[in-house]
Amino acid sequence: MKTGESIDRFLTEALRGNTGSVQGWWRRKVEGVAALHLGFPDPAVFPLKELGESAKAVLEEEGLTALQYGGGPLAARLKEIITEWTQRAGRFPEGREMMLTMGSQQAIDLVCQLMLEPGAPVAVEAPTYMGFLTNARNYTQAFLSYPVDENGLVVDAMAGDLAARRRAGRPLPRFLYTIPNFHNPAGVTMSLDRRKALMALADEFDFLIVEDDAYGRLSFQPEPPPSLQALDDAERVIHVSTLSKIVAPGLRIAWVVAAPSIVKQLSRLNVASSGFLHGVVAHYCLRHGLDERVERLRDLYSRRCHLLLDLLEEHLPPGTPFTRPDGGFFVWLPLPDGVSAVRIYERGMVPNGVAVMPGQSAYADGQGDDHLRLSFSFAEPAEMERGVKLLSRLILDEMR
Ligand code: PMP
Repeated sequence: MKTGESIDRFLTEALRGNTGSVQGWWRRKVEGVAALHLGFPDPAVFPLKELGESAKAVLEEEGLTALQYGGGPLAARLKEIITEWTQRAGRFPEGREMMLTMGSQQAIDLVCQLMLEPGAPVAVEAPTYMGFLTNARNYTQAFLSYPVDENGLVVDAMAGDLAARRRAGRPLPRFLYTIPNFHNPAGVTMSLDRRKALMALADEFDFLIVEDDAYGRLSFQPEPPPSLQALDDAERVIHVSTLSKIVAPGLRIAWVVAAPSIVKQLSRLNVASSGFLHGVVAHYCLRHGLDERVERLRDLYSRRCHLLLDLLEEHLPPGTPFTRPDGGFFVWLPLPDGVSAVRIYERGMVPNGVAVMPGQSAYADGQGDDHLRLSFSFAEPAEMERGVKLLSRLILDEMR
């Protein structure tokens, strides 16, 4: 692939919001290229053998029913199993209901379907998860972007803008989409003060909050503050979480916890699920539980994260203020003045052998050419080291 062609395709796909497709060429690992761009879990820890045994057990125990619409009795238990697991971790407040979805990506899509229409404003963090922008762009182009700093969403900035919008008689957002824990791509966690301020702001300006907690269980230390939903007296928060990073993303098992009236409306839109996979995952959870896995993953990703941070410290210009995440998969790297993320992406991929995610794909408004997202979840240690050395050489070269 020629370099110019690669970046054209990236920008066309990413900035027009077509990157959600798993077929997207750039979401693959390219032979010989250190993959610091992929926010994928490490496949070495997928429970391959155990899921195989569970699939076999479901077919043996339930026979043809397991393959019928809706699946068999095990499938029917998955919601109760995940409910119990989330309740035990204090992540399921009283009076809410749960709905299972095909990945949190489907949960996000259903919320967008329900809440958005052309011209309807939606508030996002800047930067935010690219897959949210991809989905929401199918419904509206009206994004209100608010900055993120080391304590998460800058709630004051949002407050100032909403007040100005109200004074000018302009529409307020239908909802805010936020990733409070171990942000993708910024790596930061929203502080407790900010969480409280955000809940007060939502009351004042009457908007809903979609809390995407894809990474909350993968903390290294300390634990993140209570969820936004735990601080929510007014049933404003739609909490979304997933087994993708904990068990395997190919299962497409995620869930929404929200007020019963919201879950009811979302359920009407939800026409996709696999009873068979629900049965397999229910069997897997009953036999193995999830807690031991979570502990193991926290340890694995914490070690990977520290390796990446050490490598960046060693090879990048001194004082480069990259984030130091307490969990999740990502480090957000600001580039020196005048160095373009797109240039680094373009030069890195072919022929230099390191893939990174340029910042623009994480903004609704074209900002972001001054940042890269680096992932520590997928590349193995030797690959990570090779990638960081190549990347720092490229950055130094671009500074000249
Ligand atoms: N939200 C965030 C913040 C993510 O990073 C991802 C995965 N990259 C998703 C949602 C999608 O996860 P799922 O596999 O559950 O659809």
